[in-house]
Amino acid sequence: MRSSPDKEMSKNCHAWAARDDSGLLSPYEFERRGVESDHVSVRITHCGICYADVVYTRNKMKKTVYPLVPGHEIVGIVTEVGGSVGKFKIGDYVGVGTYLDSCRACENCEDAQEIYCLKGVTMTINGTYQDGSITQGGYSSFIVVHERYCYKIPEKYPPALAAPLLCAGITVYSPMIHHKTNEPEKSIGVIGLGGLGHMAVKFAKAFGLTVTVFSTSISKKDDALSLLKADNFVISSDKEQMAALSKTLDFIIDTASGDHPFDLYLSLLKIGGVLALVG
Ligand SMILES: [Zn+2]
Ligand SMILES: [Zn+2]
Repeated sequence: MRSSPDKEMSKNCHAWAARDDSGLLSPYEFERRGVESDHVSVRITHCGICYADVVYTRNKMKKTVYPLVPGHEIVGIVTEVGGSVGKFKIGDYVGVGTYLDSCRACENCEDAQEIYCLKGVTMTINGTYQDGSITQGGYSSFIVVHERYCYKIPEKYPPALAAPLLCAGITVYSPMIHHKTNEPEKSIGVIGLGGLGHMAVKFAKAFGLTVTVFSTSISKKDDALSLLKADNFVISSDKEQMAALSKTLDFIIDTASGDHPFDLYLSLLKIGGVLALVG
């Protein structure tokens, strides 16, 4: 069925959308909401590709609403601000991450844990706005978002490098900060060296930690040691290497997504050490 000319006119946002679980994206036009008093409109210049985008595009969670516009590692330039916006001005570089809205009143929102909003958080892709409409992500020309869910990006920071920090970056940064792992002299193990793992190594080195990367694949060794400057690289199936690390680590961050046992890693932690699962 053809839509009416009026409807065509109102489709102000150009995007790439999945129409089914084939994994293919095709051009799609839709109407973004208008800018309310506390909202900003962001012209999107960069957007990362996260595995969650693939998961939802291919309907692996069996809850994708098509058409789906993926993308939740968004960087762009503010082009319009609502009347009561205080944090941003036109021309600012900003980032938008995995969620667009929450109640802003419950105890978790008040504690800056909006992702756990007791009334339900509005995710950036395949999420539901309070009015019941479905969110569309960052593989699109612009996005409109409440200023609370928008983050300033320093002017000289390369926007292409900022984008992956909005999901992959925060996923490893958050537990490291929460468990006070950002103290030099501490030791960390990073399981898996993909999108999340390599970020964990970079943060850990920036914090001054001793970093051991665990992988099942020797092909990651060069990246771990030469490129990312990890201190140690261990093949997790090597019993001798693993035994040598017994009770030596303060913190382990497990970024591997496949099914795998934790027991052998738990024995590497010092007393009171922490194993965080983010994969
Ligand atoms: Zn993500
Ligand atoms: Zn809330």
